[in-house]
Amino acid sequence: MSDPVKGDVALVNALGELAAEIDNYSRTFTSISERLKKSIFRFNAVIEPTSENKLKAYNIPPMEVVGSEIEDLAVRAKDQSNSIATSINMMANIIRTSIIKCPTCKEKGQVARQSVIREGIQPIISMDRCPDCKGKGYLVISEDITRLAARLTEGLVKIT
Ligand SMILES: [Zn+2]
Repeated sequence: MSDPVKGDVALVNALGELAAEIDNYSRTFTSISERLKKSIFRFNAVIEPTSENKLKAYNIPPMEVVGSEIEDLAVRAKDQSNSIATSINMMANIIRTSIIKCPTCKEKGQVARQSVIREGIQPIISMDRCPDCKGKGYLVISEDITRLAARLTEGLVKIT
């Protein structure tokens, strides 16, 4: 009973992490478009050098600076895109197999436990079987949740 529920929760958390990753990616693109829009003021000041246009361009950093910011953001966007593709492929694999890496022991099947023997004496670290996955290192996802999530990953893999 407890196994499928924990696996379902782990899957939902993984979906939340993927959504956050995609949010970060979109923020990077927003930053790029903001810089493009700002640089338009500078172009306008060159095309039509009215005092109003010059004033609007006044606070825009030099094109060299904007260009290098855009380059940094573009590199970040590419890294984020690769990382999202990896996460989506992992998600598709999770759905295909109906098992997910145990978040408690990170697949090790064991968790460290500190036992204090006596005050002032170094506590003993021992390894216990992971209570969540019972030492297996993974959690099983229920059929219902697998079916629901399958429809999501079916679409998501089109990004990769
Ligand atoms: Zn575990």
